Amino acid sequence: MKVRALISVFLLLIFSCTQVIDNKTVKRESFLLPTEEEITLGNKLLPEAITQFEGVYPDKNVQEYVKNLGIEIAKTVPRKLPYEFVLVNSEELNAFALPGGKIIITRGLFLLLDKESELAGILAHELGHVNARHHARYLEKTLGLSLLLQIGALLIGGEDLTERIIIQLASIGATLLALKFSRDQEREADKFGVYFTLNAGFDPHGLIDVFYKFKKLERKAPPEWLSTHPLPDTRIKEVDRLIKSVKLPDNLKKDSIEFHKVKEKLLATKLSYKAYMEGKKFYKKGLEDKALQKFEEAIKLYPDNQIAMAYASSIYLEKGFVKKALNYARKVTELDPYLLWGWYLKGIALFKLENYHESIKALKEAKKRVESYSGIYYYLGRNYEAIGNIKKAIENYRLAFKLATGKEPWYEDLRRRLYKNKVIF
Ligand SMILES: [Zn+2]
Repeated sequence: MKVRALISVFLLLIFSCTQVIDNKTVKRESFLLPTEEEITLGNKLLPEAITQFEGVYPDKNVQEYVKNLGIEIAKTVPRKLPYEFVLVNSEELNAFALPGGKIIITRGLFLLLDKESELAGILAHELGHVNARHHARYLEKTLGLSLLLQIGALLIGGEDLTERIIIQLASIGATLLALKFSRDQEREADKFGVYFTLNAGFDPHGLIDVFYKFKKLERKAPPEWLSTHPLPDTRIKEVDRLIKSVKLPDNLKKDSIEFHKVKEKLLATKLSYKAYMEGKKFYKKGLEDKALQKFEEAIKLYPDNQIAMAYASSIYLEKGFVKKALNYARKVTELDPYLLWGWYLKGIALFKLENYHESIKALKEAKKRVESYSGIYYYLGRNYEAIGNIKKAIENYRLAFKLATGKEPWYEDLRRRLYKNKVIF
């Protein structure tokens, strides 16, 4: 019975290999990773990437602007996907795409730009990677059929993923978030980028202008973007040559008032993020009081600075001011639907207040954001143990143990609890 079920899943996947007609060459291609699964994987990874890059910039008008510009370009591209464009809080100079058409740009990079066509160029380049299926091709090459099948199980399996898939997804996610493209792939994304910007009516020189900015910074403080997107001089020349080879219409969009309004908004919160960054430095050194002071300063300067609030919440938890921690954590979840920390910290605070059922609810929300974060399972375990559901407690402790690095503050306690319950691996 079991074998048969497995075989039918296998056949289903083989037959569902997508056939896509490239509308330029009318060439038929079969994909091992069907588009639907690529989209699911991208959806799974989006909150994780956003959490890694310090949350969504909390101003709705800013997000709306980036989204609208991205969609305007995406309307002209061959792959029809549920594209999403998100500006994140990180100070890094970076932009990247996830499988399935999720595109992320950092606040730091936006602040480096001087006109709309530069932003259009970056988004179009990232759309180029997605349309050339660079992530999907990487997965097809490195994962092999058995793991691709398991990703497929994400779709079939619905809510509860098995332990093994959670662990494997964690490593796939980490790899994809640090994925380096080859020079040929960059060249391909540049080429697509130029065509996409042109088709959407933007001046394609925007991308070259950004390249020159990166080049200028390279010696002093190399932009993070360069670490995943190699940028030799030949690449700039090639893009230049490509643009020169097409006849450009005269009415190409170079800039907009909206771009500058958004940039002004970002400039207005710069000091708040500076205080946040200083706070983070203190926090890393273990100087909690100084860190907290900086985080509070950041919140005072920009009351929606949810990432500063998340850090402050975590320090309040450590200091035993649980209600204060809970207030901030709640606010973080309201300001940022993706960021793991709001839900996670809310879960811990509620656990400490012995509100176990609400804590479990919050931690399950945290799980939807970053499925592979070990602490979620430790605290789920603690809650289940507190309400007497030992079976579920052990299940969660086991997973926490498998996902843990050993450096977590609760790690020794976890081991003790597993030992106490005679769990053998
Ligand atoms: Zn690239």
